[in-house]
Amino acid sequence: MSVLIKNATVLTPRGAVHGDLFTEANTIAAIGRCRERAEHVIDGTGKIAMPGLVNAHTHVAMNIFRGYGEDLPLTRWLEEKIWPIEAKQKPSDIAASARLAFCEMLRSGTTAFAEMCLFDTKGIFTAAKQAGMRGIISRCFLDFEDPGRMKQQLREIPGSLEYGDGATLRPSVAAHAPYTCSEEILIRSKELARKRPYACSEEIILKSKELAQKKGLKYQIHVSETRQEVFDVMKKRGKYPYEYLDSIGVMDKDSLFAHGGWLTKREILLGGKRGVSMAHCPVSSMKLATGGIAQITELDAAGANVCLGTDGSASNNSLDMFQTMKVAALLQKHHYWQADILPCRKVLDFATVNGAKALGFDAGALEPGKLADVVLLERGPNMHPEHDLISNIVYAAGPQNVTDVIIDGRPVMLGREILTLDEKAVMEEADRSAADILRR
Ligand SMILES: [Zn+2]
Repeated sequence: MSVLIKNATVLTPRGAVHGDLFTEANTIAAIGRCRERAEHVIDGTGKIAMPGLVNAHTHVAMNIFRGYGEDLPLTRWLEEKIWPIEAKQKPSDIAASARLAFCEMLRSGTTAFAEMCLFDTKGIFTAAKQAGMRGIISRCFLDFEDPGRMKQQLREIPGSLEYGDGATLRPSVAAHAPYTCSEEILIRSKELARKRPYACSEEIILKSKELAQKKGLKYQIHVSETRQEVFDVMKKRGKYPYEYLDSIGVMDKDSLFAHGGWLTKREILLGGKRGVSMAHCPVSSMKLATGGIAQITELDAAGANVCLGTDGSASNNSLDMFQTMKVAALLQKHHYWQADILPCRKVLDFATVNGAKALGFDAGALEPGKLADVVLLERGPNMHPEHDLISNIVYAAGPQNVTDVIIDGRPVMLGREILTLDEKAVMEEADRSAADILRR
C-alpha cells in the first residue's frame, strides 16, 4: 500500500517543511516534492502532518468505567470501585471497551499505545488489529503475595504472549506494582520478558540493524505513584522503589515504568543511568490527587526516556494526548516556578519519538525510513495565527483538529471518518456493556 499526502506542512525533526509526504508499505519513503504514484492520495492543503501521538501508559479495558467512581483517593478508588467492577467484566466487555478506546485514540491523533490489563488480552489484540492500531499489550501479574495466585498466573499468563502479529501489535509482560506483587513474581515475570524475543517480520529485521539482534519484550510496571506506596516498599524491602527494582534486575532500557511521582534525586539518577522509560500520566495523577509531581525534566536530563500517557479513562477521564502534553508542560513550569523549563518541542518529543522508543517501535518522527504513523491536523481557529507551530500543537490543538490518521502506512481515518471501526455501533455496544456490568 502507498499513500501520498500532497501539499502539507510536514513537521520533521528538523522543523516544518512545506511539501508532500510519501509512504510505501509501512514506511515513510520521501518528504518534499514527491512525484510518486500512490494508491491513496490525500490533499494536505492547509493541513499539518505530524507524527502520531504515542500513549505510553493506558488501560483500554477500563474505558467503559469512565465517570464511574469519581472523587475518591487512589486506594479507595481501586479497592472500593475499580477492582470489584473489573472482576465482573466478561471478555466481550473488555473487547467493547477496547474498541471504544481505539475510536477515541484515532479521533485524538494517537497511533500507538502501551496497555496493561488485569485479564485475558485476546479481545484487546483483536480489537486493536481491527482498528489498525499499533501497540504493546500486556496482561498484568498481580498476586498480592499469595503463592497460589502467583502459581496460577505463572501458568496462565505466558499463553497471552502468543497473541499479536509480531509487527504492529506485540505482547508485553507486566506486573502491577512493587507493592502489590511478591518479589518472586517481579523477578520471574521480568525473566519471562527478557527470554522472549520479538516475533519480528522479516521485512523489519532487514530494514533495521537494531532489530537484527534478539531483544526481549517490553516490561511494564506502575512505580512510585503514591507516597504510601513508597513507604510500603521502603518498609518491606528497605529500599526506595527504583532502587529496589534495580537491585532485583527489573530496571533497564526495556522496562517501562509508569507514574514516578515520588522519586528521590538518587532514584532519578539511577533511572537515567539505566535508561529506563518513564511514562508520566499528569492528568490521572492530578485527578487522583497523588500529590507527587514526576520530575520529568530531571529524569530527562539524567538520561531516562521520558514519555507520556493518559492512564485509563476511569482516572483521566479521556485518552486525549494533546491535553496530556499541555498539562505535562504546565505542571513542570508551575512546580519549578520556571516558565522556560520544558520547551514545547521537548514535550512533543516525549509524546511521539520517546513514546515510540519506549514501546520498541522505530516510529514517532516524520523522516524517511521511519514507520509511517502520520496524523493530519486542520488549522482551525485555535491554530491561528501561527507564530510557533509546535506551540500551537502542544498548547492549542485538540482532537477537533485531527482529520486523517495513517498507521503503519495504512489510512485508518480519512476526512474525520474512521474507516476501520463502525464508530456508532462501537459507542452503542460500549454503553450496553457498561450498563450490563452494573446489573451483574
Ligand atoms: Zn495505570
